[in-house]
Amino acid sequence: MNRTKYIFVTGGVTSSLGKGIIAASLAKLLQARGYRATIQKFDPYINVDPGTLNPYEHGECYVTEDGAETDLDLGHYERFLNVFTSQANNVTTGRVYQTVIQNERKGAYLGKTVQVIPHITDEIKRRMKILGETGEYDIVITEIGGTVGDIESLPYVESMRQLIWEEGEGNSMVVHLTLIPYLKAAGELKTKPTQHSVKSLLELGVQPDVLVCRTEHPLTAEIKSKLALFCNVQGNAVIEARDLSTIYEVPLAMLKEKLDKVVLTKLKLKSITEPDLTQWKEFLFRIDHPKSSIKVALVGKYVELPDAYKSINEAFIHAGASNECEVNVTYVHSEYIDAENVAKKLEGFDGVLVAPGFGPRGIEGKLEAIRYVRENNIPFFGICLGMQSSVIEFARNVVGLTDAHSSEMNGSTPHPVIDLMEAQKEITDKGGTMRLGSYDCAIEKGSFAAKAYGKTKITERHRHRYEFNDAYKAQIEAAGMKITGTNPQTGLAEIVEIPEHKWFVGVQFHPELKSTVENPHPLFVAFIAAALK
Ligand code: GLN
Repeated sequence: MNRTKYIFVTGGVTSSLGKGIIAASLAKLLQARGYRATIQKFDPYINVDPGTLNPYEHGECYVTEDGAETDLDLGHYERFLNVFTSQANNVTTGRVYQTVIQNERKGAYLGKTVQVIPHITDEIKRRMKILGETGEYDIVITEIGGTVGDIESLPYVESMRQLIWEEGEGNSMVVHLTLIPYLKAAGELKTKPTQHSVKSLLELGVQPDVLVCRTEHPLTAEIKSKLALFCNVQGNAVIEARDLSTIYEVPLAMLKEKLDKVVLTKLKLKSITEPDLTQWKEFLFRIDHPKSSIKVALVGKYVELPDAYKSINEAFIHAGASNECEVNVTYVHSEYIDAENVAKKLEGFDGVLVAPGFGPRGIEGKLEAIRYVRENNIPFFGICLGMQSSVIEFARNVVGLTDAHSSEMNGSTPHPVIDLMEAQKEITDKGGTMRLGSYDCAIEKGSFAAKAYGKTKITERHRHRYEFNDAYKAQIEAAGMKITGTNPQTGLAEIVEIPEHKWFVGVQFHPELKSTVENPHPLFVAFIAAALK
C-alpha cells in the first residue's frame, strides 16, 4: 500500500447526528482490518481553537499530547482507536485564515488579490493532506463540522470537491451522515430531508458515495432503494444507523451493516485481515454484564451540559468495565452545595469526583463537598481545579489557614496556597497560553497513585495556569496531605494525597484524556475499585 486514501464525512439535515462517532467507528473497523487510520476534524468557526470557548458553547475542550486545545470529537477518536491525535487533527476556520493572513503579510501572495478561492481553499486542502503526507497512515478520515448547506462550511465542501477531483477515482470518497425522521402521525419514515441535503451537496459538485442514515426505526428495503435511487448511490451504500444504548456498540452495528466493506470496495482496497474485535467485544460484554454497581457523584458547575465532562464520563465507563462494575454517575451542581445541605446532597455516594473548571463560580460548593468526603472517609478524586480545591480545603480546615484560597479566585488572599505559575506571570493573551499537553511526573513509591499505575514514572496531559504553591508545602505535609507526584524538570506538584484516607487523590493533570477502551485509565480504575470496597 503506498498511497493514502481520503474519506470525508459530512452531515446533513441536522447537527448532533454523531458524525464523530460514525467517523471513529469506521476508523475502528478499518484499523481492525489492518489499515493504519486516523481522523481529523475541520470546524467552521472563527475561533483559532476551541480553547477560549466556554464548555456551555461547545462541550469539553480536549487536549492532545502536543498541547493542542481541540474539539471533543478528538477524544472519541483516541478512545476508539487507541492512537494519539495532535494539533494537525483539528483545524478551524480561524486557524486557516490566521495562516493565510500571516502569509499575506509576509508577502507570499505579492501582487495578488487574496481570496477564498483559491487561497483559503488551498490552505484547507494543504491541511486536509498533512497527515496523509506523513506516510504514517493508509487512510485519513476528515470530518467536516457543521451541516451541509451552512454558509460557513462552503469553503470546506469546495476544498473537499477539489481534493476528490485531484486524488482521482478510487482514492477518495464521501460518507454522508443524515437523518431519516419518523412521522408518528403518518406512521412513516421520511426520506425527503435526506434527498434535499444530498441535493445541496450536489449543487456544490459533490456526490456522496455512502449514506449513513440515523433512524429510530429499521429502514425497510423499500426505503433503502428509494434513498439509493433518489440520492444516486448504490443499493448497498445505504447504511442504517439505529439509536443504540452505548456509542461503543456503533462499530459492531456498522460492521453488521458492512459499512467498512462498502468503503474498502469504493477505495479499491482489499480487506487485509478479517476484523479482529475480540477485545472490543469483551469490553462490551463487561458493560452489559456488571457484577456490581456503584454510585459516584461528579461535582462541577457545568453539569447542565453533559458534554462538558465528556472524557470523564467515558473514563468512568472504561474503568467500570475493567472492574466489572456499573458506574452510575450523578451530576451534583457545585453552585448549590453549602455547609447545611452537603450531607444530604452527597448521601449514598460511594465516591466523589470534583471536576476541573475555571473561575470562582461554584468554588465554595466544591470546598464543602471535599470537606465532607475527607471527614467521612469517602473515596475522593480531584482533577485539576478539583485537586487545587482539595489543597485549599485542607489548608483552611486542617492546617488552620482560614483565608487560604487560589489567587485565581481571590487575588488578595493572605494565603495563596494555589498561585499563578511563574511562567504565566508575563502572559497576557488568553488563547493557547496555558500549561498545555504532556508533562512528566515522578510518583512516590507506596502512594495511591503508584499502586494504581504500577510504576513511578508517568506522563499526563495538562491544561492550567495555576499551581500548588510550594511555600506552603511543609505546613500542608506536616498536617497530613502529601505531595506524591512532582514534575522532575520544574518541581511543580502534580499529585496530592491523604495517605490516612481510604482513597484521596488530587491530580493537577487530566487523566480522563488518556483513558481508552483498550487502556482504561489506572487512576479511574483504582478510584472505582476504592469506591467498590
Ligand atoms: N482554573 C485552574 C487553573 O487554571 C484549573 C484549570 C482546570 O481545571 N483545567 O489552574
